[in-house]
Amino acid sequence: MDMIRKIREEGLNNSKVMDIAFHLTDASGPRLTNSPGFFRAANWAVSELKKWGFDNANLDAWGNFGKGWELQKSYYAMVAPYYKPLIAFPKTWTAGTNGLQRAQVVLVTAKDTMELASYRGKLKGKIVMMYRPDTLNQSFKADATRLTDDQLTTMANNKPAPPDTAAQRRAREQFRRNPNFGIANRLRDFAKEEGAVSILSATTNGHDGTLFVQGGGAYQINSPENMLDAVIAFEDYMTIQRLVSSGVPVQLEAEVKTRFETSNEKAYNVIGEIKGTDKKLKDEVVMLGGHLDSWQSATGATDNAAGCAVMLEAVRILKSLGVKPRRTIRIALWSGEEQGLLGSRNYVRNRLSDTTTRKANAEGEKVSVYFNLDNGTGKIRGVYLQGNQNVRPVFEKWLEPFSDLGATTLTLQNTGGTDHLSFDGVGIPGFQFIQDPIEYSTRTHHTNMDSYDHLIADDLKQAATIVAAFVYNAAMREEKIPRK
Ligand SMILES: [Zn+2]
Repeated sequence: MDMIRKIREEGLNNSKVMDIAFHLTDASGPRLTNSPGFFRAANWAVSELKKWGFDNANLDAWGNFGKGWELQKSYYAMVAPYYKPLIAFPKTWTAGTNGLQRAQVVLVTAKDTMELASYRGKLKGKIVMMYRPDTLNQSFKADATRLTDDQLTTMANNKPAPPDTAAQRRAREQFRRNPNFGIANRLRDFAKEEGAVSILSATTNGHDGTLFVQGGGAYQINSPENMLDAVIAFEDYMTIQRLVSSGVPVQLEAEVKTRFETSNEKAYNVIGEIKGTDKKLKDEVVMLGGHLDSWQSATGATDNAAGCAVMLEAVRILKSLGVKPRRTIRIALWSGEEQGLLGSRNYVRNRLSDTTTRKANAEGEKVSVYFNLDNGTGKIRGVYLQGNQNVRPVFEKWLEPFSDLGATTLTLQNTGGTDHLSFDGVGIPGFQFIQDPIEYSTRTHHTNMDSYDHLIADDLKQAATIVAAFVYNAAMREEKIPRK
């Protein structure tokens, strides 16, 4: 309890978490895997860990990823029937325009590839949009929310549901982003074959200046360049669609310059350690982490500079208190998460598991636990137990000193979509904390608005304090964290 008191004092009253977040966001820029911004942030984190006195702080290669990508110029405007600047952001890994282009908009209404074929010969030098049948969803609910007591009680009583498969998740996501998904995918290749200037896209939830922007196609080192495809504001998209539909010709100007980084397809995670000191337990490891990579349309503050800043701050707190942990404490900031948990999956595959049995190997058995944070800026309200009933009494005890900070809930519920799954998948206990959603799905997750401004300092301080305590407890405990 004496150490928990010190952790609280350092974490709540001497926090560096917002300074760390500044370096990972504003100072580094967008952190797409293998892009210059990713390496600015990763190198900064390694040098900071070294400054703090960490062991083995380094960029740890996990395998081949593919191309980095950088946006160097982006301009879209409507110039006829009148001038209107467009809120636009090109999708990641798409090509540029080859200088300033002025082009007429073609609205494609095809519902299948047969109908699409009727546009052959009509898209050269044009800007192409797919007809959208949807309308704007007004914001009747607040963008930002916290979990209510009722919601937390429901979570506490929930049984684990079978997790969605990755394919189910992707399909749902794709449908939500674009109900025309199959045909839109085909349009990308067709427009390229036909010599179009650019595709324009929009998402229903991306209104009021918020754009949800992800990848525009393959990033593997030998893959061909993808057709330029820019997400524009829903309101801009519908304005153009209504004009073209009613027979008014619409002209746009576009100039986009992108750069592909192909000199090194290897990708890296950031690793750092506080060595264990107990003769018997020092080879065992307590791990914590989050993904450092982001999408490209903002600096990925809530996804996931927030999680990385909290994890870095948690180990900074412990180091500043001069802890001598019994087990080794290892932080990992992953890359390639946004493309399918690639950094953590490959770390676990290369080092901690047997590739034939897909279970933890001898090294993996030495990992007591992995803690992850990747749900935005919201403070910690508890822990998802991932169906591990055995760990409940342990975590119950560890949460006790933080009930005054709002962290009280343990749920058997699974949560998916991020790097703890890589550990859970081979039988190493891996946990995500429950966090208040704040504006995660409404405003910041994969959007052009995911900036430092959307971080809440008090929430991140609370989270770093609780994570530091959990990591400390796990490192000092006589036994490893119980397996499922
Ligand atoms: Zn994330």
